Amino acid sequence: MAASKCSTDPNTNIPDYEYTDVNTHIFHIGSFRNEWLNRLKPSNYSYQQEDEDTFDANFAKEMGISAETMTDLKSICSLDSLRCHPEDEQPDTEVVPPDSTLRTLVQRKKKQDHRASLKISKNRHDLYADELERLTVGRKPEAVTDMVPEGEVILTINVYYPAIYEKFIYSRPHITLLMTGSHSLAELRDAICCVSDLQVCGEFSNTPDIAPDFISKDHYKSAFFFFEGVFYNDMRYPECQDISMTTIEWAKAHKFPPYSQAKMEDTRFMDLKVKVGFPYLYCHQGDCEHLVIITDVRLSHKVDCLDKKLYPLLTHKHRVITQKCAVCHVFIGRWFTTNDQFAPSDPCLFCDKCFRMLHYDAQGNKLGDFLAYPFVDPGAFN
Ligand SMILES: [Zn+2]
Ligand SMILES: [Zn+2]
Repeated sequence: MAASKCSTDPNTNIPDYEYTDVNTHIFHIGSFRNEWLNRLKPSNYSYQQEDEDTFDANFAKEMGISAETMTDLKSICSLDSLRCHPEDEQPDTEVVPPDSTLRTLVQRKKKQDHRASLKISKNRHDLYADELERLTVGRKPEAVTDMVPEGEVILTINVYYPAIYEKFIYSRPHITLLMTGSHSLAELRDAICCVSDLQVCGEFSNTPDIAPDFISKDHYKSAFFFFEGVFYNDMRYPECQDISMTTIEWAKAHKFPPYSQAKMEDTRFMDLKVKVGFPYLYCHQGDCEHLVIITDVRLSHKVDCLDKKLYPLLTHKHRVITQKCAVCHVFIGRWFTTNDQFAPSDPCLFCDKCFRMLHYDAQGNKLGDFLAYPFVDPGAFN
């Protein structure tokens, strides 16, 4: 949609339909919802299933076609006509026929052959990743009170991982979450799993047993989102600090346009003014910075997951290759050491078992000189 076709109300800038530019103009999510609800008939966003005949009649009317054409189209486009096997045969859905001309099947065959040539078997992570979206389509809650209300806003949000590894710069790993307009920013924060929240800071070669008691998330609870000139701070716990203050004061001193603050737990998406497609910021643990991009804002639909309890709903997750122990090559690394005479490299990664076997005697006394730091693998959340 061209910018000129935006809503005529200059204060809302609500995109009429789809926006083809990189990002939309800034608009208020609550007003966007109201605008849709004004323009649509309640039957358009109702979860009630129309019976097939009514649907067909309405569809034909809307498309300006006759009832006969509609019947023809239905049989031509029917799933039954999409077979590439004899009618009396039950196909194996895992086997792609060798001579298929259907593009999706050609692609699928390519992928299967690639996996077979590399001897990659589907592990439980991949199986799960494929299921993520499928599992929740059209899912209804057990209790009516848990139903996402008709006409609720659904946002698609991508949260990117900081480029802490060189390869992350190219692969842009992220998670994709669906959230409703009634969710608060604090709920978004709680849905973001970042390895730096689990990081344990410090050198523990003398006391390896006490290390796991310190987890960064429990110690450093401050965080903020930054949307359109406003820092939304997490102030839910007494130890939270307003970590945006330094930036705000710095900006003031350098004559930048003024920034303001609000609490993330008091801010619902409905209340926000945002640009869809624009990179915003989530910052926690002092300097762990994630880009946050709202990629879609729309009304809920009957094929959406309608169980409120399953939101924020994770629909995509990047899978990170885990780094294995340098000794056994089997278990995920839990420690890394430096200045370590027993290690084949500096720094060197060990699983807990190998680390303790190599560096301590049976009584738990430290052997030799080395420094040891707890390590949390970025793939820990796979
Ligand atoms: Zn982070
Ligand atoms: Zn090991």
